Amino acid sequence: MRAAVLHGYKEPLSIEDVDISQPRAGEVKIKVKATGLCHSDVNVFEGKTPVPPPVVAGHEISGVVEEVGPGVTRVKPGDRVISAFIHPCGKCGNCVAGKENLCETFSQVRLKGVMPDGTSRLSKDGKEIRTFLGGGFAEYAIVGENALTRVPEDMDLEKVAVLGCAGLTGYGAISSSRIEPGDTVAVIGVGGVGLSTIQLLRASGAGRIIAVGTKKWKLERAMELGATDVVNSKETDPVKAIKEMTGGGPQVVIEAGGNEDTIHMALDSVRIGGKVVLVGLPPATAMIPIKVASIVRGGIEVVGNYGGRPRVDMPKLLELVRQGRYDPSRLVTGRFRLEEINEAVKMLEEGEAIRSLIVP
Ligand SMILES: [Zn+2]
Ligand SMILES: [Zn+2]
Repeated sequence: MRAAVLHGYKEPLSIEDVDISQPRAGEVKIKVKATGLCHSDVNVFEGKTPVPPPVVAGHEISGVVEEVGPGVTRVKPGDRVISAFIHPCGKCGNCVAGKENLCETFSQVRLKGVMPDGTSRLSKDGKEIRTFLGGGFAEYAIVGENALTRVPEDMDLEKVAVLGCAGLTGYGAISSSRIEPGDTVAVIGVGGVGLSTIQLLRASGAGRIIAVGTKKWKLERAMELGATDVVNSKETDPVKAIKEMTGGGPQVVIEAGGNEDTIHMALDSVRIGGKVVLVGLPPATAMIPIKVASIVRGGIEVVGNYGGRPRVDMPKLLELVRQGRYDPSRLVTGRFRLEEINEAVKMLEEGEAIRSLIVP
């Protein structure tokens, strides 16, 4: 099959033929319909998330089940599915405790780019090729069955691909924030995760929703999707602006920018007694100094949230899509053939895209 292979960090992806094996126990082979391109993929391409090459990335996968491995019961060949970027084992302590987004088995292999048994399903000339969270930038992908959710027949399979990371992470952000009706919330970052979060905040009854970003057209889209106010952090001091418009800061700040500056912004702008939910994923080595005294005196709660629970949260997200309360198509700003993926990467790096769909 054809796949977009990264051979070395900061090099363009190479579209080439690779071998894919059969799915093993508990695994499912998907014929890919579309895969969204996320910043986390670009972090791998740039070596900021150091998954060892050769590697095939792509983790917002939609497609049709081609073949199932032994013991698979959740899907069958022909099913239309989306894959989450989290592949829960279903058996570890966290999975059993209802926190499958923090699957202990998956967390061991995530950055190694291999399946839970330590091996890979892709190869070329007998040499192993790894995958990052699924390997959706290819004609086929193999993932664990617990990552998958069936998609209703009447739903556009291409567009719901972005639920796999942007949608699920937005959902997890709302769950972790435990917002109450009418709460004022700031969302820092208006990429795929930020815009998902804004839509889901509106669906969850938040009060004022302040979107913070640097691109005018993305902030306009944030207003269309549910933000009540916007702050352009290139044009104004965002912390001062947020504090002023909320009389001391929002009850909750959701950080979806995933870099040192935006994390500082989140910690500095939250209201005394408030909560900061970190969902944007910075490069693996990112460090920030924090003003500990103001965290202590302010009783600020800071929590990290990683994605959401595929088997529990994804069906709920699909229901919100069905009702029109969450629209994944508003995150999609482009559609590229697999051969054109390097163009899509460039657009994302330059901030000119939200989600591009890569179609094999
Ligand atoms: Zn697990
Ligand atoms: Zn992602």
